[in-house]
Amino acid sequence: MIRLKKPAEIDAMNEAGRVSAKALRKTGELVRPGISTLELNKFAENLIRMEGGIPAFLGYGGFTGSICSSINDQIVHGIPSSDAILQEGDIISIDTGAIVGGWVGDNAATFAVGAISPDAQRLLDVTEESLWAGIEALQVGGTLGDIGAAIQEVAEAADFGVVREYVGHGIGRAMHESPSVPNFGTRGKGPKLKAGLVIAIEPMINAGDYATKGPFEDRWTVFTADGSLSAHFEHTVALTSEGIVILTKE
Ligand code: MG
Repeated sequence: MIRLKKPAEIDAMNEAGRVSAKALRKTGELVRPGISTLELNKFAENLIRMEGGIPAFLGYGGFTGSICSSINDQIVHGIPSSDAILQEGDIISIDTGAIVGGWVGDNAATFAVGAISPDAQRLLDVTEESLWAGIEALQVGGTLGDIGAAIQEVAEAADFGVVREYVGHGIGRAMHESPSVPNFGTRGKGPKLKAGLVIAIEPMINAGDYATKGPFEDRWTVFTADGSLSAHFEHTVALTSEGIVILTKE
């Protein structure tokens, strides 16, 4: 069941979104060759706690990080590690989430490590563009399929693969609520979009085929099946009678 939020509840979610956004921006500013993803994790966790939040991912299903850090062909759910040292030319997807006052915020972005190839940059640009296309499709009277279709059109026009197995989600007092929000779909299909809907829209786009592999031994990290690069951008967004509110912003 989709649990719509009242205006006061959406207002209350702003702070979790703000802390999540600040953690993502400031952690992203630390991305450089030579830094480990464990260092990024420690920084983000401290920042979230200093801002009065609780890291939403820490302990979730046994996850040991406060962020997800996914490098190059890792799509999502990479576990921070002292062994994962960023190299010039890598791309890294960072996902941060915070709980404040019992409400959850969730956002992600992919960052360049030093200078990256034009092809990698194009993947980042198109994935971010697809997120905004999905957000713009969020309108009262529309359907969930409108969002996926908008994302899919942008990604596939660039010849990129839209990951199918992992999708966005409703969000509120729990990080993952109904509905699932696929990054592919058909306009006019799926549940109707109503004021009070709060969802995390999060395209995961592969430079190659959309197929995934894993997780393997670590039980978390998901990879592209063909070894191609993958990017991930995410915002927590509310639909109100007055329009869209991006909750994951400072
Ligand atoms: Mg999410």
